[in-house]
Amino acid sequence: MKRRVLTILGATGTIGVNTLDVVARHPDRFEIFALTGATQVERMLEQCRTHRPRYAVMSEPAAAAALRVRAAEEGLGVEVLEGAAALTEVAIAPEVDTLMAAIVGAAGLPATLAAAQAGKRILLANKETLVVSGQLFMDAIAASGAELLPIDSEHNAIFQALPGDFSGDFEQAGVKALWLTASGGPFRTLPAEAIAAATPEQAVAHPNWVMGRKISVDSASLMNKGLEVIEARWLFNARPEQIKVVVHPQSIVHSMVEYADGSVIAQMGTPDMRTPIAYALGFPERIDAGVSALELMGRQLTFEAPDTARFPCLQLAFDALAAGGNAAAVLNAANEVAVARFLDGAVPFNAIAASIAHALGRLVGGAADTLDDLLEADRQARSVADTYLGALRA
Ligand code: NDP
Ligand code: MG
Repeated sequence: MKRRVLTILGATGTIGVNTLDVVARHPDRFEIFALTGATQVERMLEQCRTHRPRYAVMSEPAAAAALRVRAAEEGLGVEVLEGAAALTEVAIAPEVDTLMAAIVGAAGLPATLAAAQAGKRILLANKETLVVSGQLFMDAIAASGAELLPIDSEHNAIFQALPGDFSGDFEQAGVKALWLTASGGPFRTLPAEAIAAATPEQAVAHPNWVMGRKISVDSASLMNKGLEVIEARWLFNARPEQIKVVVHPQSIVHSMVEYADGSVIAQMGTPDMRTPIAYALGFPERIDAGVSALELMGRQLTFEAPDTARFPCLQLAFDALAAGGNAAAVLNAANEVAVARFLDGAVPFNAIAASIAHALGRLVGGAADTLDDLLEADRQARSVADTYLGALRA
């Protein structure tokens, strides 16, 4: 058994905390090289006490300064670094063989892409990286021989349900379609007027999963599923029409692969992110994740079609995928800006879809060949969405 040396980007977030929980169950298998966060000093300090990393990075300099003082007082022996460049440094350090990429948003892209170029084993939770730079990212993986294991529960399920030697050729593997399940989020049964008036507290109260605030809002708008459709396109080399979405409110079936012979292979489990995290950490071995056994007796599993009229973000994501080029980067950036404004209480819930549609209308068709092009599309979309939402508030 190879002892793996890990950097966890976004260690202070919900995926990061779940990753450390699994890691702590297997001290013989894993060793922590670096942990990163942005603002949560107390949580990072606690993680440094428990896991004794060589490096702790806080992307916010003020948080790094506070952590540095506290870590020195306690004699933790951890070197505290700060800023975005340090995220990349600890992601690609030669000592590291495995990277958990769990920063939220496009902020995770530079370090994750650098790790892909450096040939690391990447456990990818940060779906926004693939949404923004899918082709470049997958090209970097192929060129360096890096290993990519999906953490998103749906993509992890599909990865488990595909043949072990799947090369991205649907015909050859007899794969007809990938079925992404969606819980439907907290507004699944609400009428459009009630969704439009939803508060941030209602939006982050997910029925089945405990997640960060941004992805919780994405789940409520179904943008999370939209981002996952784009993620699936790149991870599995799927054409848009080969990716289907079905609403499954119980979140027991995490996703499915439909084969030419009529077989549909699903992966099921208790909704707990430690399962896909442990799968990827241990791959190809199966390791204990601390997850309670799936209780099927007396349970009902139901499936329904998604409603893109009440949840236009899902359709916008399919549209962006069809448009190609810079569209997905624009969609993602406009969504990040709108979700942050919504969480601040500055704009209503339905402004999220409206600002994305506005940004797509203004910016689709721009250059998308290089990373700089995509980062420019991201920057422009943030600016366009900002202006649009600012006018809404006035
Ligand atoms: P959280 O908001 O809980 O955590 C985000 C992490 O990123 C924190 O460590 C945070 O630091 C850090 N961070 C935030 N902004 C920046 C920045 N600008 N630069 C560097 N670090 C930053 O999110 P989740 O853990 O829920 O999600 C992480 C990613 O995983 C997202 O891309 C999400 O879509 C994806 N994902 C999450 C799932 C879940 O169940 N939670 C499921 C599937 C995918 P700090 O907290 O210290 O400020
Ligand atoms: Mg998911």
